[in-house]
Amino acid sequence: MQIYNTLTHAKEEFVPNEDKKVAMYTCGPTVYHFAHIGNLRSYIMEDVLEKALRYNGYDVKRVMNITDVGHLTSDADTGDDKMLKGAKREHKTVMEIADFYTKAFFEDCQKLNIKKPEVVEPATHCIDDFIKVISSLIEKGFAYEAGGNIYFDTSKLKDYNVFHNFTEDDLEVGVREGVEEDSNKRNKADFVLWFTKSKFDDQELKWESPWGVGYPGWHIECSCISMKHLGEYLDIHCGGVDNIFPHHTNEIAQSEAYLGHKWCNYWFHVHHLNTNSGKMSKSSGEFLTVALLESKGYNPIVYRFFCLQSHYRKSLVFSYENLDNAKTAYEKIISKVANLTSEKDSSDVDKAVFEQFKAKFNDAINDDINTSNAITVVYDVLKSNANAETKLALLEDFDKVLSLDIIKNAKEFAEKQNQNSEIPAEIVQLVEQRTQARKNKDFATADAIRDKITAMGYQVVETKEGTQIKKL
Ligand code: AMP
Ligand code: ZN
Repeated sequence: MQIYNTLTHAKEEFVPNEDKKVAMYTCGPTVYHFAHIGNLRSYIMEDVLEKALRYNGYDVKRVMNITDVGHLTSDADTGDDKMLKGAKREHKTVMEIADFYTKAFFEDCQKLNIKKPEVVEPATHCIDDFIKVISSLIEKGFAYEAGGNIYFDTSKLKDYNVFHNFTEDDLEVGVREGVEEDSNKRNKADFVLWFTKSKFDDQELKWESPWGVGYPGWHIECSCISMKHLGEYLDIHCGGVDNIFPHHTNEIAQSEAYLGHKWCNYWFHVHHLNTNSGKMSKSSGEFLTVALLESKGYNPIVYRFFCLQSHYRKSLVFSYENLDNAKTAYEKIISKVANLTSEKDSSDVDKAVFEQFKAKFNDAINDDINTSNAITVVYDVLKSNANAETKLALLEDFDKVLSLDIIKNAKEFAEKQNQNSEIPAEIVQLVEQRTQARKNKDFATADAIRDKITAMGYQVVETKEGTQIKKL
């Protein structure tokens, strides 16, 4: 399997430390609000990566943190503390906010067929682990105390900027452009491991530590949670591209300083989902969530399909027009597969054809998770003259990685079609007239038609998938 490794800037053959076993870590959400669909693009593509590894026969153990405390990196952080802001906004405690949005995040994941990692660990459960690692970093001379906070000393490393995606000048520019500088730091790139004194001092959550009552910095949580559950050697670490610097750069700095050896071999980064007006945001413009898409009548799986149509290493522009195109394409696949389910005549799966298409699918997915080519293979299967059984078996197999509910939704579609075919043409016509009246906002006519349909023994029901007709 070839995967692009941000650390080496090249596509590489994926070889885990232990034969057939993969230790995988994913940066989890900061749970102060709902996830936007940009965040979820990262989790969808990481889910495909995990499933592709499993499809290749790897036994994957995946760990994800929940940032319920410690998303601050230094006193140079601008603006407000997001968790506190969330708590104030909703008149709740920070822990209530964290619980609520953690639950909401996994509900969104479920709707998008994103598998829950084997281990999900909130940062607040690991304070002792953070203290242990920070103490060791101080002992080894990699961390220092200044102004009440503990900082990581980046000058102690031979190569701090391991991803080589910024220069020291970038840091200078950042400072000059008005990012407040934390005067306690010895070097510009130093970052906080533990806060006891901060401009964000009204924290609700604080813990005892050898350096006074305080709370952890953001980067330390991912290093510690990963090492706690996956040990000293990590195969693959994922996140959005915005995490490369400083978050992942700092995770590597502190983990390798602590361990004394290389920590993680492969770094997988998903590029951003943007809007036509630029960066996706939770606070300005339309706050794009799964719930919002649902309220506009989109099945969340259509959004997953939209993401899979593009490669994860290209930024992607979200617009309703683009989503509508994905919806049309997805529905076409579903209706074609629905026809296959009714064509089935208990022939055998043609093994040679099956293996031929499976190999093509494998080539696509094993070429740095090329999901758009994998979807092309789905179209190739549908266009081919293989028998229905073979096509269905292939699509079921591909869906282990794609998770687009192709067979399930096609079956439901076929059932609906069957139901509709038993409905008299006169009723179908009335329903169409009613739909038209509703579109024209002529609700009086729409209601009158509905009453007529009811009087004829049928019921019109509006569902997420559209209008359904049922016999009373
Ligand atoms: P956060 O909740 O801010 O910690 O972000 C959760 C995940 O979403 C991280 O892996 C981020 O890198 C990723 N992310 C943030 N914004 C976007 C975006 N617009 N498109 C894709 N991924 C994003
Ligand atoms: Zn992280």
